[in-house]
Amino acid sequence: MLTTKTKPILLQPAWKLPANIRAVISTRNNEFNLATHVNDDPNKVMANRQQLRNFLPSDPFWLQQTHSTRVVKADLSKAVPDADASYTTDKGIVCAVMTADCLPILLTNASGDFVAAIHAGWRGLNNDIIAQTILKLSQFSPNDMLAFIGPAINQECFEIGKEVRESFLATDTAIAPFFIPSINNEKFMADLRGIAEYKLYKSGLLPQNITNPKICTKCNHNWFFSYRENPNTGRMASLIWKE
Ligand SMILES: [Zn+2]
Repeated sequence: MLTTKTKPILLQPAWKLPANIRAVISTRNNEFNLATHVNDDPNKVMANRQQLRNFLPSDPFWLQQTHSTRVVKADLSKAVPDADASYTTDKGIVCAVMTADCLPILLTNASGDFVAAIHAGWRGLNNDIIAQTILKLSQFSPNDMLAFIGPAINQECFEIGKEVRESFLATDTAIAPFFIPSINNEKFMADLRGIAEYKLYKSGLLPQNITNPKICTKCNHNWFFSYRENPNTGRMASLIWKE
């Protein structure tokens, strides 16, 4: 997937989807930053967003992401909300999250009834943004929901302080196996992808319905923006919609 020399602007996730569902992930091609909050030239960001728009049925429903657990119905008539996940059952509405190491999680179900996009860093995961999103979709059975965990930082690149591990264990001791001691004192390597899978199972998704290709943003920072590789970086987008 990441071996070609010429990078496209958008990648299609290696994810088996119902025929009416489309999903794309933007790359770092020519510093294709889509975020307005990262000290990039606003004109360049707008030009990038315009270029992205050409591939979509409507403007994406962007979020003001704050590592919260707020989940909103995507509605382009409303101002950009403070939220970290959106969902819709409507056709042509594009749910989108921006990331650079955090987990972009896309959701739909086998019959393509809805789409959702979740931004999950460690705080969002620990505060259960995944469960909060699935709660908003309670008319659908989690048993046939399909989840894709996009490019994000892998365990071998994600060192955290012991207080992060402790705050996870304070809410759920079963999360302990997702941390291994770092070579550095009082630090741990955190498997956010593993925690996300675990949280998806806890919400009722089945293992065979979770696609988690473990593409690391930091290891592949020529392809993806990575905050841990360089804090002064752009953001890529993961987008999903019903046709
Ligand atoms: Zn890595």
